[in-house]
Amino acid sequence: MERISSLLEGFREAQAKIARGERKPRPERTEADGPTFLECETHGPYQVSRWKDGREWFFAGGCPKCARGEDDMGSRLIEAGAEEALAGCSFVNFKAKSERGKNAVSRCQRFVEMASRIPSECLGIFLEGNIGAGKSHLSVAIAREFIAKGGGSVRIVEAGKYLSGLWDAPFEAKESYKERFVCARLLVLEELGRHANTEASMVELSSLINSRYARGRPTVFTSNMSSKALVGFLGEAAADRMTQKGNMYAALKWDSYRQTGRAA
Ligand SMILES: [Zn+2]
Repeated sequence: MERISSLLEGFREAQAKIARGERKPRPERTEADGPTFLECETHGPYQVSRWKDGREWFFAGGCPKCARGEDDMGSRLIEAGAEEALAGCSFVNFKAKSERGKNAVSRCQRFVEMASRIPSECLGIFLEGNIGAGKSHLSVAIAREFIAKGGGSVRIVEAGKYLSGLWDAPFEAKESYKERFVCARLLVLEELGRHANTEASMVELSSLINSRYARGRPTVFTSNMSSKALVGFLGEAAADRMTQKGNMYAALKWDSYRQTGRAA
C-alpha cells in the first residue's frame, strides 16, 4: 500500500511539474508497454496495473506473494478465482477518502457481517462503478472477510468467463460446472453486463442467479450498470429482496486512481 501511495504521489508531483512547465510530459504509455510493476524487496517485481479498454488501470493490494505468506488467505483467494495481483486486497488497504467511498466500504462490511452469519437473510450486494473505481478491490475484500469469518467456500468469476467456461465444457460436464458456482457459500459475479448479450447468455446467468437465490446463498455483483439490471435476471420482487430494497447497493462512482491521481 505504501508503495502504491508513493507511486500515486510521484505521479501527482510529476503532473504538477508538467503543469508548471518544469518538466516535459513523458510519452503516453500504451498497451504495448505492458502493465506497470513495482518491486518487492523479498519477491522482486509484482504487477500493479492492467490494461483494459485501451487504458491502464491501477490496483492496490501490495505484493501478492507477501500477502500469501502472511496468512495463507491470499492463496485461498486465488484458488477461489481472484486475480493474483488482487490477492492482497482488503478493507484495510482500500483508500476511501470521500464520504461516498467510506459509505461503500461500510455497506460492504455490513453485507459480509450479515452474509457470513445469516446468509439467507442477506442474499446480495450490488457494487456499481466504472472500471478502475475499485469494484474488484472491494469484492476481493468481501471474499477475504467472508472466509475469515468462517462463512465457507467462495468463488470469484467474471460473468463472461463463467459463460465461456460453460460453453467450453463438454456436454456431460456442464451440470457439474454450474453446480460449483451455485453451491459456493459466497459467489462474486463480476462485470455483470460485460458479456455477450445473447439469449443463451441471459438464460444461463438468470439460472445461476436464481438458483443461488432459491438456495439462500449470497452473491456479490459488480457491474457498471445500475442495480436495476438485476430485475432483468430475477424479476422485481426477487431483485428487491436480494438487495434488501436497494439497501445492499454501493455506488463506486468516482474517477479512477489513474484519471485523477486521487483515491476514492
Ligand atoms: Zn513480496
